Amino acid sequence: MGILEGKNILVTGVLTEGSIAFDVARLCQEQGATVVLTGVGRTLKITQAMGRRLPVEAQVVPLDVTDPEQLGQLADSVREHVPHLDGVVHSIGFAPQNVMGGGFMDGPWEDVATAMHISAYSLKALAEATLPLMSGGGSIVGLTFDGTVAWPVYDWMGVAKAALESTSRYVARDLGPQGIRCNMVSAGPIKTTAAKNIPGFEQMEGTWSERAPLGWDSTATEPTAKAVTALLSDWFPATTGEMVHVDGGVHAMGQ
Ligand code: NAD
Repeated sequence: MGILEGKNILVTGVLTEGSIAFDVARLCQEQGATVVLTGVGRTLKITQAMGRRLPVEAQVVPLDVTDPEQLGQLADSVREHVPHLDGVVHSIGFAPQNVMGGGFMDGPWEDVATAMHISAYSLKALAEATLPLMSGGGSIVGLTFDGTVAWPVYDWMGVAKAALESTSRYVARDLGPQGIRCNMVSAGPIKTTAAKNIPGFEQMEGTWSERAPLGWDSTATEPTAKAVTALLSDWFPATTGEMVHVDGGVHAMGQ
């Protein structure tokens, strides 16, 4: 029996087979969950195709996290496929290229605002939109790149990640009394579409695999997806507002 047997999980952020969320959706199904995906705008059809590549075909509902109408309709759209949710995965990040890659001091507010809206505020928006489906409690898990320190080239996306991590703690505070946990998985660098859009991503990746006591494979999403799956399960019943590093151990090293 899998650790998610009988649970219904909403997974955002499946864009390609290389998306972290694709592996999360696959593992959730392998662990017994029914998975519903969300897809955004012009790439919705691609997410539908990805849904067909999972072990069990997953249905896709539309969700652009900046669209209040779609957020308002999300619970009803999900109810067409499952009656309630036990877990929600936030695997969403975006920043315009001109606020990453080095020109931190030149980042204009409109573009910073876009990064903050899609990458940080969206966690609260997603939690709020799915709340009516989690009356029996649940687990929300988001993906971050450790926002507690400054990284090369990450710039305003790094600031958005710090805001995402803080948002997670406040969601944990406010939804905890309803039995809803909210946690982050902080992954090391992985060569996904989002990562390739960061100008100078190689500088973040840098010597990661040498610094990691466990080593690090920047093409592998499964270690991160396993941690997300575990946090969605009942095996972390008293953990919320937490950030679990899946980075080969780099965060714990001085050099
Ligand atoms: P990805 O490009 O496969 O996924 C990013 C997803 O964000 C896409 O599915 C995209 O459709 C979605 N998205 C963008 N704008 C959206 C919007 N307005 N509404 C709804 N969805 C929207 O890349 P990924 O690396 O799998 O990224 C998933 C998460 O993991 C992101 O939060 C990312 O920051 C985080 N993360 C990635 C790495 C890495 O090195 N790749 C490391 C740590 C954390």
